[in-house]
Amino acid sequence: MGEEKGPGFKSGFVSLIGRPNAGKSTLLNRLLGEKIAIISPRPQTTRNRILGIKNLPAGQVIFLDTPGVHHSRTRLNKSMVRTALATLDEVDLVCFLIEADRPENDENDLILKNLKRAGKPVVLAINKIDLVPRAELLPVIGRYSQLFPFREIIPISALSGDGVEILAEEILRMLPEGPPLFPEDMVTDQTERFLVSEFIREKILHRTREEIPYAAAVVIEEFKEKEEKNLVVIRATILVERDSQKGILIGEKGRTLKEIGRLAREEIESLLGTKVFLELWVKVEKNWRDDPRALRRLGY
Ligand code: GDP
Ligand code: MG
Repeated sequence: MGEEKGPGFKSGFVSLIGRPNAGKSTLLNRLLGEKIAIISPRPQTTRNRILGIKNLPAGQVIFLDTPGVHHSRTRLNKSMVRTALATLDEVDLVCFLIEADRPENDENDLILKNLKRAGKPVVLAINKIDLVPRAELLPVIGRYSQLFPFREIIPISALSGDGVEILAEEILRMLPEGPPLFPEDMVTDQTERFLVSEFIREKILHRTREEIPYAAAVVIEEFKEKEEKNLVVIRATILVERDSQKGILIGEKGRTLKEIGRLAREEIESLLGTKVFLELWVKVEKNWRDDPRALRRLGY
């Protein structure tokens, strides 16, 4: 920012939209070459909107990772879908992610309907091409090009990185000319505090089963840097909805919680570049997912 850019420099906002599990968070991390979004084999794990900034010599692309669009029931889920669809009105370009191995479904129909309403230029990224033979891609491209006037259709694998650079270049090409909108050393607008809570939540998703992942929220109670010791002290509370969930999360002799803490700490240390002391507590807060006050406090 501030610094003059040559003519032809481009910048703009791009929304990554797709059904839960389409690979939006994986793609965002891959595009940025850095981990800022949590990834999970379970659907509906990205709860907030996450902004990722890709700085290129010829421009700056600001990506919005959104919660997956799906048919929702709880108040939390409804607010997630609203967040995803609302970003359509704020961006210069939409990148719609579908999966090569399951291209057609109700959620994608719902997204297409909203894309038509929003009237923004859209790039279709067909993700997970590592899962299907090449020959299966052509008919998918054929059918989708009948459904919407996509500016480009690009097959990718967010997991292997195949096609991702091409996608980034095409996206940049379609953005309007303009100066950088964020400082060029910035990768995300999320605070370290938020990223830390997300990393803890990701480890909960990986280490527990059934209803626990959806019932858990992480609140950072304390985040203190001890500069003289090159140490950060973090205390966090994990909220769950029932006593039984608390028991499962803590595990036999505290093993599960300890393992979650160890995995999260290692990742937080590499994010912050310091030693980390991480303390986790588990607290039952009945039905926080349907309590508007609790949701506001948690930032959903
Ligand atoms: P999101 O819900 O759209 O953010 O999806 P995630 O990025 O969390 O990914 C959901 C799951 O799909 C994870 O298990 C990813 O590892 C997996 N995944 C994402 N991209 C690819 C891909 O290109 N190929 C394969 N095989 N799996 C992928
Ligand atoms: Mg996600």
